[in-house]
Amino acid sequence: MPMISVGKGAFRCPRCGEITSGAMKSCAQCGQKLSIECSDCGQTWRHIHEYIFCPNCGKRVKSLSAGGL
Ligand SMILES: [Zn+2]
Ligand SMILES: [Zn+2]
Repeated sequence: MPMISVGKGAFRCPRCGEITSGAMKSCAQCGQKLSIECSDCGQTWRHIHEYIFCPNCGKRVKSLSAGGL
């Protein structure tokens, strides 16, 4: 069973491609938020998980329609 370890270490900003660190909450180059916070329970997680529903309370945290903003 493969262990998937995401959420730590470097990954690229989804907007500008800048390499960010796991400790950064937003991209220093473009301001893209790198952490998602559930507005209902306050749980936070890295954007790379791309959760649609909060893993803690189940509230929908992401719209299914693409191209928001
Ligand atoms: Zn960026
Ligand atoms: Zn939640």
